[in-house]
Amino acid sequence: MNSFEIVVVGSLNVDVTVDVPEAPAAGQTLLGGDARRSGGGKGGNQAVAAARLGRRTAMVGAVGAQDGDYLLSILRDEQIDVGGVRRVDGPTGQAFVFVDPEGDSTIVVSPGANNHVEVDRDLVAGARCVLLQQEVPAAVVEEAASVANGLVVLNPAPARPVAASLLANVDVLVPNRGELLGLAGVDRGDLVQIAQKLGTRGPVVVTLGAQGCLVVEAERSTRVPAEQVKAVDATAAGDSFCAAIADAVLDGADIVEAARWATRVAAVTVTRHGAMASLPTRAELGA
Ligand code: ADP
Repeated sequence: MNSFEIVVVGSLNVDVTVDVPEAPAAGQTLLGGDARRSGGGKGGNQAVAAARLGRRTAMVGAVGAQDGDYLLSILRDEQIDVGGVRRVDGPTGQAFVFVDPEGDSTIVVSPGANNHVEVDRDLVAGARCVLLQQEVPAAVVEEAASVANGLVVLNPAPARPVAASLLANVDVLVPNRGELLGLAGVDRGDLVQIAQKLGTRGPVVVTLGAQGCLVVEAERSTRVPAEQVKAVDATAAGDSFCAAIADAVLDGADIVEAARWATRVAAVTVTRHGAMASLPTRAELGA
């Protein structure tokens, strides 16, 4: 039995995090704290988020020789199937994260093996849901969306131009405000009208950080406020939000109910430090 509830096609990174006294400026050398290593990448984070919500999850991605075993063992420990993760020559993806005293991060991502992901078409075609983001080449995202038979959820992050043919294969698009404006090629405007004109075949859920999210359907839009929590680190909030949207829609929730569930899940994520480390389990959510 190798069909999965959620197949994540996306990036796997080693995050190297250093606390710095201020955000680095051009040309500057800073002394920071001790470097911490952890598993990350939007794809990896979404896969771990889905697995902790109790979904039978598989990952399609790529790792290099060095650090590849480290990332695979993290995924396996979460019961995520890694048969779709290629091993390639050259470096594993890495993200260098500099955290200033306000908790804001400056991040440089070196994609490495993430540029060599190959879509396992059978795995993707057999999934109930395919979860996509944009830290892998556009051709990979487009191929995965076109061979999927189940629900297609796209988090268009980081922002880049997206083909109309890809948007036409997306059931739920989950951009933040900047990504939505970027997709439409505008720098301001009415978010509802912009989302309705994008050309997806389903709703758009625009995440707005501490302001919550805006659920845009063809005929209506609904504001869902964020939960009032003490946020300490927003890393992976968007990733947990996307996985939770998929989780709820697979259970038959409508998109507004799904957004409320995702809001709950993301609220827990922001109260804890780190990427994967901050992702809650279904048991913790009392669901
Ligand atoms: P991204 O990091 O992808 O830009 P957002 O910052 O919009 O995503 O956050 C995603 C979701 O996480 C929000 O829609 C919200 O539900 C939740 N969230 C983010 N920041 C906070 C916060 N300070 N308090 C409560 N929830 C938050």
